Amino acid sequence: AVRQARLRSQKKEYLKIAPLRSETKDGFRLKVGANIELLTELDIVEKYGALGIGLYRTEYIYLSRKDLPTETDHYHIYRKLAENKTLEYITIRTLDIGGDKFVSEINVPKEINPAMGLRAIRLCIREIPLFKAQLMGILRASAYGPLRIMIPMVSGVDELRKTRSIITECMEELSRKKINYNKDIKVGIMVEVPSACMISDKLAQEADFFSIGTNDLIQYTLAIDRVNEYVSYLYEPLHPAVIRMIKKVVDEAHSHHIQAALCGEMAGEPLYIPVLLGLGLDEISMNPYSIPRAKKMIRGLDHGYCRELLEEIMKQDSPEEGEKLLNNEMVRLFPKDFVRVHES
Ligand code: PEP
Ligand code: MG
Repeated sequence: AVRQARLRSQKKEYLKIAPLRSETKDGFRLKVGANIELLTELDIVEKYGALGIGLYRTEYIYLSRKDLPTETDHYHIYRKLAENKTLEYITIRTLDIGGDKFVSEINVPKEINPAMGLRAIRLCIREIPLFKAQLMGILRASAYGPLRIMIPMVSGVDELRKTRSIITECMEELSRKKINYNKDIKVGIMVEVPSACMISDKLAQEADFFSIGTNDLIQYTLAIDRVNEYVSYLYEPLHPAVIRMIKKVVDEAHSHHIQAALCGEMAGEPLYIPVLLGLGLDEISMNPYSIPRAKKMIRGLDHGYCRELLEEIMKQDSPEEGEKLLNNEMVRLFPKDFVRVHES
């Protein structure tokens, strides 16, 4: 009963924070969006205070049915999102199938190592009609609201160029048919493969925005299968290699005047908020239920302080040392929200 009462009062606190701005004490605004998989989540997205949708995982459109969705099926779904008046931006990630996500109607060859196989954008640019059905649906719906397109698993500039040329073909077809669409729709990429980090200066010249997918980026950088429990202890967002890569991506984005978001699970972990602020990200997105807590952290922090803290963390040799430093600071700053997990 005590626990239930605590949960109830916590929920009340979160719903009070939900509509507030995600701004630090010294006035830096970090946009906080939601990751969703289903349209039915829209209620929660609004209730928990998302500014926009940072990641719509469209795989579920394909998973929830027996046949493949048509252009019109896609269009109706995305139009519902687009017409929502509370969201400032809606990021639709094109089909990210393969790896640990499967669809029975799409024949992906049996692979020994699916995480490194024919997945996501690699599959889409081989199955053009499948890809075009989705892109046409997004473009048609873009006439109704702030939709943007995000390409998963980009590993080099050619995949982005190929996608852009397919999008151009779709646009020409719509223009011929006199169907409206947003000609300036933003086309961004997920940065979740180490090669994309290393050439983020080149990608930033051709992409309209970046969104860092740390779930996959950590998997590929640290060589840890994200669904393998035996190596999960090595899955460390604060690994110096991961932090340096995220920093490079954000810095390259900014020197090329595009925005950098982060949409991996680490964004929903309150402990990491000061790190994400210190890295200078423009936007983060997470499970909608985690948004109020993230806002609470952001509103209680100072951007300048987070940059200094990040510098200290980046001097550490191991993720454990960084984590300890971070935890101690968060216990000091938010004594009600964090408990000390390391002896000092
Ligand atoms: C990621 O890889 O970090 C990500 C957000 O996408 P997903 O978890 O769907 O691969
Ligand atoms: Mg991913």
